[in-house]
Amino acid sequence: MKIRYLGTGAAEGVPAMFCNCETCKKVRARGENEYHTRSQIYVDESVCIDFPADAYLHSVRFGVDYTKLKHLIITHSHCDHFYAHEFILRGYKYGYGNEGTLTIYGNAEVKKVFEECTRREMREDVKKNLQVVELKAFEPVSFGEANEYTVLPIPAQHSKAEQAFVFLIEKGEKRYLHLTDSGRLSREIIARIAAYLNGKTVNLVAFDCTFLFATGGEVSRHMGLEDNLAMQRVFEEFGMVSSNTQYVITHYSHNNLPLVETLKKAQKIYGFQPAFDGLIMEI
Ligand SMILES: [Zn+2]
Ligand SMILES: [Zn+2]
Ligand SMILES: [Zn+2]
Repeated sequence: MKIRYLGTGAAEGVPAMFCNCETCKKVRARGENEYHTRSQIYVDESVCIDFPADAYLHSVRFGVDYTKLKHLIITHSHCDHFYAHEFILRGYKYGYGNEGTLTIYGNAEVKKVFEECTRREMREDVKKNLQVVELKAFEPVSFGEANEYTVLPIPAQHSKAEQAFVFLIEKGEKRYLHLTDSGRLSREIIARIAAYLNGKTVNLVAFDCTFLFATGGEVSRHMGLEDNLAMQRVFEEFGMVSSNTQYVITHYSHNNLPLVETLKKAQKIYGFQPAFDGLIMEI
């Protein structure tokens, strides 16, 4: 599996849209190599996790061809993860070469947001090639050629208004655990993931690291490095990871100084690979 981190920032982005704090000023001055746009992950050629307003920027910056996108997995309905207005453009005179249906997988709110955001401008001939499939916690879905991908929706600790999901994506013998947006997972949830894995291990884990050197603690919508470390220890305890498992941190906030020197320090102390916009991990 080829996993491309197209966007690695929190909701407001780094630099943030409406902000002139010292961090945002510094990042603007340093230029786009230190920008962290809104969260989006591309898996191989046809699968994507989340579709923020920056999806367009990602396509032009990193040469992503969305006509190949067939399966879109949405963590939750917050606009930094699901900017549904764009889907009115997948067809008619706006877009050619989109063969077949794009399936969007998400929770009940994602389904509602899709309807709300596309209601005004959606054409019938575009809509007929889009479908939204509702996910349920711990009910895996399979798709792709010969069902090569299986995705397990895992309940995240993120929002009281909706059940956000994080995901375990399997393709053959490769497994990717995508853990943003979420605070720490409970031991009960981790035990269920371990039972599902049934002795198999995960090759790559991506942690929500919104807080970096600050900590969310047990009850929080996001995580920092200490929370990631706590999760890593529980995964080890449950035998879900091995000494070969790789770790990535992502989804940084401008409130926690996500400058390159901070990320380097995080890597040195904790051993996790800090994601940056454009990072490619192959497992
Ligand atoms: Zn987010
Ligand atoms: Zn700022
Ligand atoms: Zn969110």
